[in-house]
Amino acid sequence: MAEDQRLGRYGEKRDFRKSPEPSGRGRGSAGAGQPQFVIQLHDARSRHFDFRLEADGVLRSWAVPKGPSTDPKEKRLATPTEDHPLDYQDFEGVIPGGEYGAGAVVVWDTGPYRNLTASRDGEEVPVAEAVDRGHVKFWLEGHKLTGGYALTRLQGREDWLLVKLRDDKADARRNPVSTQPESVRTGRTVEQVAAEEGEPGETR
Ligand code: MN
Repeated sequence: MAEDQRLGRYGEKRDFRKSPEPSGRGRGSAGAGQPQFVIQLHDARSRHFDFRLEADGVLRSWAVPKGPSTDPKEKRLATPTEDHPLDYQDFEGVIPGGEYGAGAVVVWDTGPYRNLTASRDGEEVPVAEAVDRGHVKFWLEGHKLTGGYALTRLQGREDWLLVKLRDDKADARRNPVSTQPESVRTGRTVEQVAAEEGEPGETR
């Protein structure tokens, strides 16, 4: 599918005269170097983390209510959301009241990733294809998260699970979702972003 078609749902949901989010039309470093992941903490009506993986010129996306864990025993529900443009990985700011996803967003973690998805005979499965099939494994090189993770669609359901793989980066004692809530880009919390960039007296 062409990228502009893929991003159709993204554009339909948003009014770029009102929201500061990128329109996706001026795409920057598309496909240059290693693919990137980004996890944004989004203080919308219900607070959640948006997990995004670069694949085929877009960011494949899931909303993860509890956020990622570093403990392989923790399974985190992940609901697929519409593909986002590549430049969304830099977005941090406030989506104004009344707009889709109203609330503050910070870049909670980001960095390059490597695809670990392989077929039974050991051939690498491209990430876009792996996502379409409902199972993708990858190695993150983030500031807060490192190591292997898997996203797997539940049989016969829309929902997926995000799980830490068992490797030397797994750590059941860490809990970065609660101990490191701030942006890796600016060091700000969603509350600080809302106070600095939100409209005065705005309700979301
Ligand atoms: Mn969101």
